[in-house]
Amino acid sequence: MAIPLLDLTNQYFELKEESDAIWFDVMENSAYIGGPRVAQLEKELAEYVGVKHCIACANGTDALFLILEALGIKRGDEIITTPWTFFATIECITHLGAKPVMVDIDPRSYNIDPAAIEAAITPNTKAIIPVHIYGQCCDMDAINDIAKRHNLFVIEDACQAMGAAYKGKRAGALADAAAFSFYPTKNLGCGGDGGCITTDNDEVAARIRLIATHGMPQPYRHTAFGVNSRLDALQAGLLSLRLAKLDEWNGQRAAEAAYYNEQLAGVGDLITPHGEDFSTHIYHLYILKTDHAPELQQYLRDQGIGAAIYYPLALHEQECFDLLPDYVKPSLPIAEECANKTLAIPCFPGLTREQQDEVIAAIKKFFT
Ligand SMILES: *Cc1c(COP(=O)(O)O)cnc(C)c1O
Repeated sequence: MAIPLLDLTNQYFELKEESDAIWFDVMENSAYIGGPRVAQLEKELAEYVGVKHCIACANGTDALFLILEALGIKRGDEIITTPWTFFATIECITHLGAKPVMVDIDPRSYNIDPAAIEAAITPNTKAIIPVHIYGQCCDMDAINDIAKRHNLFVIEDACQAMGAAYKGKRAGALADAAAFSFYPTKNLGCGGDGGCITTDNDEVAARIRLIATHGMPQPYRHTAFGVNSRLDALQAGLLSLRLAKLDEWNGQRAAEAAYYNEQLAGVGDLITPHGEDFSTHIYHLYILKTDHAPELQQYLRDQGIGAAIYYPLALHEQECFDLLPDYVKPSLPIAEECANKTLAIPCFPGLTREQQDEVIAAIKKFFT
């Protein structure tokens, strides 16, 4: 039997009746966008993350953009971030005319290296965007300490980390503001696109709400130039249902990861994921590092086992940066070394022990 990298049908069937009821309720009442379901979800998420404000929006990319815009990031500002992330982290910076300054990562966690941040600060630096990659938190005390000393904003890209915790506090409550994505493949995913921002800052929250709705505090009165970035009621309803299951689902992922770690230790040149003492890991992706990632990926796929490389190329080496006139490609040896070596294998709620054993057997066979 084929084993997909990710099977999203489990989470639908586990809540099928309730999910279907939301669909019909939204249709029958024609209450499509915003409204009480969105307000309810925002309240639940703020409580879950442990912050004062949650603002729902259209996707995680918008969430990042809205935060930077609300913080007043503008042309010429420098934002320090990681090259080991999904492209959206960088895109939101360049769209504002600001400059992404990518620094190297920690070779074990693949998260941004705090020591490298400090060295990249200039008088133009305004903010740091750490990304909790694969679902494990960055070393936020170290990062917040640097930010405090240099008077910088810290924005968590928590798009892969809903439910992860750093020293007992949830991702999303660890900096000035945080961006989340509800893209269907994320640990908390909806039935389309969705995202949100969490923050404790009243002023930033109000500014984000204003910008996300055309700078329109009341119908047809515009006090700012904003965008249209809203969540619809169907997605909000689904997310409320799934949020109640999230800790259980994340726990299943962690248990599967522990089994892989145990079974795959010492196999070939495989390096299993490193768990930081300061963070829980929600295994948005279960990542193996090997010099043979492309060959192993093909070998698994030939047997119907899903596997994917995250990421084939560190972002600072992407050709789009040739379009930025003053871009100087940094030398980031650790990120460069990881490119094409980090392979995700099946890890999702509902994956069975039998399926895991099949994946493990195939990997062991590849290395014999
Ligand atoms: C998914 C993701 C995003 C973007 O979220 P979308 O909802 O797809 O716009 C941003 N950053 C990271 C790290 C992500 O994984």
